[in-house]
Amino acid sequence: MTKLPHADLRREIIATCLRMTALGINHGTSGNVSARIPDGLLITPSGMAYDQIEPEDIVRLDHDGHYEGRRLPSTEWRFHYDIMRHRPDVDAIVHNHAMHCTVLACLRMEIPAFHYMVAVGGGETIRVAPYARFGTQELSDNALAALDGRRACLLANHGMIALGTDLEKALNLAVEVENLASCYWRCLQVTRPAILTSGQMGEVLERIAAYGKQPEELGPDQTPAFEAPRRLAS
Ligand code: 13P
Ligand code: ZN
Repeated sequence: MTKLPHADLRREIIATCLRMTALGINHGTSGNVSARIPDGLLITPSGMAYDQIEPEDIVRLDHDGHYEGRRLPSTEWRFHYDIMRHRPDVDAIVHNHAMHCTVLACLRMEIPAFHYMVAVGGGETIRVAPYARFGTQELSDNALAALDGRRACLLANHGMIALGTDLEKALNLAVEVENLASCYWRCLQVTRPAILTSGQMGEVLERIAAYGKQPEELGPDQTPAFEAPRRLAS
């Protein structure tokens, strides 16, 4: 029997799907996950319960958008394929129907700069891609445009997409965006929250890129995330 290629990454994709459900940001067979490989991408099969998916059910899409595997790829293979093709900075994609992201997406409301962490999406807002039917090229085109210069977006009357350099980062971003959507929605129950200015968000965007990094990990011209206290000699 030939060895299953990318067996570890296939297992990681399944683990990411199961984590989405365990974290409460997805349910049922909604959502899908992909990861880049040298000969294309690996993506979840369409319509399968996550706890039933085996590594052999994960589908490979090649660079021409042809698939290989025993299952049909996710209905959303087009946006996974197009994002991987147009965004060399992205190696993993998470799509789900997280409750609060979906509420805002149904209201066609973007997430404005009501909280500085909106910057984790890569810009001053988290945009909503205009509505298009699931599984269409139109949805893929709309998502790609909403993700221009960004790492996350909402999909009108549908859900959200989060991008990352690996599956863990894409999943963590999805969790953060759902938290922001939930917080924004709660603010709206009271009144419209104060929105940070472009200047304030510009400063955050400059600094947040260094967040979580040690000084030696920063590029030569990179602004540290914050002014650290003086380190004692040890
Ligand atoms: P798939 O099961 O085909 O991935 O569809 C789920 C989904 O979220 C479609 O947008
Ligand atoms: Zn969906």
